[in-house]
Amino acid sequence: MKVYSIFKSIQGEGLTIGAPTAFIRTSGCPLRCTYCDTPQAFDKGEQMTIEIIMAKVAKLKCTHVCLTGGEPLAQKDSPRLLKKLLDDGYQVVLETNGAMPLDDMPCVENLTISMDIKCPSSGESEKMLFQNIELLGPTDQLKFIIVDDADYSYAKEVIEKYSPKCEIILTPVGGKNLKSLAEKVLKDGLDVRVLPQLHKFIWGDEDNR
Ligand code: SF4
Repeated sequence: MKVYSIFKSIQGEGLTIGAPTAFIRTSGCPLRCTYCDTPQAFDKGEQMTIEIIMAKVAKLKCTHVCLTGGEPLAQKDSPRLLKKLLDDGYQVVLETNGAMPLDDMPCVENLTISMDIKCPSSGESEKMLFQNIELLGPTDQLKFIIVDDADYSYAKEVIEKYSPKCEIILTPVGGKNLKSLAEKVLKDGLDVRVLPQLHKFIWGDEDNR
């Protein structure tokens, strides 16, 4: 499969925030979000076998592994890689963009799926596959990046309409300006988590390897 980079960092997002993590960033993504912070992964990268990827991950000596992109599910070998990582005892998160069908994935137990729903300001909200939401369970997470009030209202509507059974995470674009989003969530009594992008606090935009 085509991989842009494999590196060790602190997980900056989601429910494993703060954990030292081995990241596998695949190349390629079918979306072009306006605020994308990893455009470098759209077409660069190198072909690697699953065995080579596993060896590189093992050298990083992390319990947590995050398969991210780009868009991992744009590559046909991602489910096989996920199964191998889980079989080898890693705690694995798959980050996916909400536009890829999750029902095509073979059943992979113990995997945490972290799925985005792209809000209107991304320019890609019409590509979301909302039927994916019902496939997410209590150990999965649904993430919304919020740019403005229209995005916040959209996220609220989606949450109300689909009643996700997983954890719901709202993060401000850029990952740092949490106050107004936190105040809206408290005022509206939403049962969600407001989370930063921790890596942006630690390294600014330098850590998008
Ligand atoms: S889905 Fe992710 S990688 Fe793809 S364009 Fe959007 S932000 Fe970038």
